[in-house]
Amino acid sequence: MKNVRVAFFDSKPYDSEYFDKINEEFGFDLKYFRGHLNTDTVPISKGYDTVCLFVNDQVDAFIIKELKNNGISLIAMRCAGYNNVDLKAAYKNIHVVRVPAYSPHAVAEHSVALMLTLNRKTHKAYYRNLDKNFTITGLLGFDMYQKTAGIIGAGQIGKVLIHILKGFGMNVLAYDSFPDMKFAEKEGFKYTSLNEIYRQADIISLHCPLTPETQYMIDEKSINAMKDGVMIINTSRGKLIKTKALIDGLKSKKIGYAGLDVYEEESEYFFEDKSGDVLDDDVLARLLSFNNVIVTSHQAFFTKEALMNIAQTTLQNIKDYFEEKPLANEICYQCGQNRENCLKTEQGRCF
Ligand code: NAD
Repeated sequence: MKNVRVAFFDSKPYDSEYFDKINEEFGFDLKYFRGHLNTDTVPISKGYDTVCLFVNDQVDAFIIKELKNNGISLIAMRCAGYNNVDLKAAYKNIHVVRVPAYSPHAVAEHSVALMLTLNRKTHKAYYRNLDKNFTITGLLGFDMYQKTAGIIGAGQIGKVLIHILKGFGMNVLAYDSFPDMKFAEKEGFKYTSLNEIYRQADIISLHCPLTPETQYMIDEKSINAMKDGVMIINTSRGKLIKTKALIDGLKSKKIGYAGLDVYEEESEYFFEDKSGDVLDDDVLARLLSFNNVIVTSHQAFFTKEALMNIAQTTLQNIKDYFEEKPLANEICYQCGQNRENCLKTEQGRCF
């Protein structure tokens, strides 16, 4: 196989640490760039064979055309979600591979961390006790046991979360476009409608992908249909929630708690150190001002195990492509929209 040159965009020190370690087995030529891929940085891709991208890189029709002109024939996403990739523009132009599963446990466990922190206020207790304030007034929580959790999107992450929450003794309701009845029977939970989840759930956790259908599924209308004081957890994608409606719900106390690992305008801020800057996003500033909201910056995936798996699968995807093997983790306009429509060729590729 030829010497494959890979340009990483939006790379961080932990990317190079884990990719360099796993690359000892592959021997590719890896070059790490700090900035996002966008119209300013796309010329950097010239001279490389493939680009390795992450959730907040810009991969629209213009960028795809530029990448192709620069000789790139493969986009290797080092993540599961691909809502930032214009798959229609890429179809028959550039192959797109991703890491469909690296650790559903990492994301499910982070969702539970948000639930428990919001509920039991351990973040506040930590600061109080550092200040020798050992009072517990204001830290009152609730038993998760026998409360109802509504899981929207019961795929790999949603299923792990259901298993964990069943372990807490919670009643679980789930909504998914493709219900897995065997799994529901094994775990002892029910698939139901979105409306029923809104009506019954004490905690709602989002685990479906961002698509035109799911964008802003949590808006004024759905929030209005929820229980008073509901907890909303979003570790999926920011645009599943209309942030303005969430803020209104928090102000009116309809929403009792929100745990957000993703935010609809996150690309400017998340993963960056902005501690020396004035925060110029008024919506994010308002979210951070609530004492019943926890924002984490897209770190749900961030475990050692997940980073190892991401590096391993991404480099294997690249190897398979350049060795002209079937691409198990390719996504395209057809199969990305609806996996029932997967039209992979006999060579195991989308085109
Ligand atoms: P998955 O594909 O295994 O599961 C998604 C589930 O959502 C599937 O069961 C699918 O049938 C269902 N679904 C699709 N459209 C739906 C709809 N309109 N309504 C209800 N259900 C629908 O994906 P996954 O690995 O479980 O990941 C879920 C999401 O988590 C990803 O799309 C990604 O956005 C997000 N994610 C976030 C992080 C993070 O660090 N915060 C990391 C990985 C993934």
